[in-house]
Amino acid sequence: MNICILSTNKKLYSTRRLVEAAAERGHDVRVVNHLRCYMNIASFKPSIHYNGEELERFDAVIPRIGASVTFYGTAVVRQFEMMGTFCLNESVAISRSRDKLRSLQLLSRKGIGLPVTGFARSPGDTSDLLNLVGGAPIVLKLLEGTQGKGVVLAETRKAAESVVEAFRGINANFLVQEFIKEAKGADIRCLVVGDRVVASMMRQAQEGEFRSNLHRGGSATAIKITPEERSTAVRAARIMGLNVAGVDILRSNHGPVIMEVNSSPGLEGIEKATDKDVAGMIIDYIVKHAKEGKTRTKGRG
Ligand code: ADP
Ligand code: MG
Repeated sequence: MNICILSTNKKLYSTRRLVEAAAERGHDVRVVNHLRCYMNIASFKPSIHYNGEELERFDAVIPRIGASVTFYGTAVVRQFEMMGTFCLNESVAISRSRDKLRSLQLLSRKGIGLPVTGFARSPGDTSDLLNLVGGAPIVLKLLEGTQGKGVVLAETRKAAESVVEAFRGINANFLVQEFIKEAKGADIRCLVVGDRVVASMMRQAQEGEFRSNLHRGGSATAIKITPEERSTAVRAARIMGLNVAGVDILRSNHGPVIMEVNSSPGLEGIEKATDKDVAGMIIDYIVKHAKEGKTRTKGRG
């Protein structure tokens, strides 16, 4: 197969591993920086250009779109879709997953376990909003944060009110969420490929920190998940429309709750913690499922 990986940096661990896994299996693979792609949106023959030339046709595209460039990155992925190229995760699904509110709304409709979460805009609602999710301690999250940035724990009601005021002051959209204390700073990352959890790890936050992100010094170990966690992760990825996803779950005293679903999950932490060839499993999935014209969006978004 002729596989294209959209990534801004060839040297990133996940990109390198995907290149390696594809090459090991005898595929042609090319890393293309989506930020340097430009597009021709002409009727009937959409095309993508790169470094002064038109890109060749690929059998499959693996988007690795960073959160800071979602808009441009998904436009490039969508252009591949318009050309009928199979994209491992589609543009609509990537956009959905990048918006925490939209994701939670979609998951809640299907009855997936979630932390009690609220969203509001006008300053008059603060008190009732905090009551809605059970009062302090409370977690406040910027809608488009990643790697733990923009996630705040307010231990008291006063602190929560101040953070709400600050976020409102800068016109930021944010969620307020029940603090799952019983998770004790740990969450579970399930790597879903197709309809299987192929690897899972527990991430434990550093001493004195509640955010378990590896970027914030969390540590990862392989973990055996329960059948309920497994089916929750697989269902969440499916609801978001993602073929490959990193689904983050907290163990709450009302069962597994989903925190977020990531569309470009990092491979380094999970491969090292579990010793599994996740990149290889992603390539195998593509070989089995990639077909020309099989994109679901078909221009109808
Ligand atoms: P990001 O996209 O920045 O990673 P998350 O929603 O995943 O944001 O939150 C970052 C981390 O904060 C999570 O991995 C988890 O450890 C912790 N966390 C987030 N929400 C809650 C919550 N409601 N209760 C307890 N811990 C939470
Ligand atoms: Mg997270």
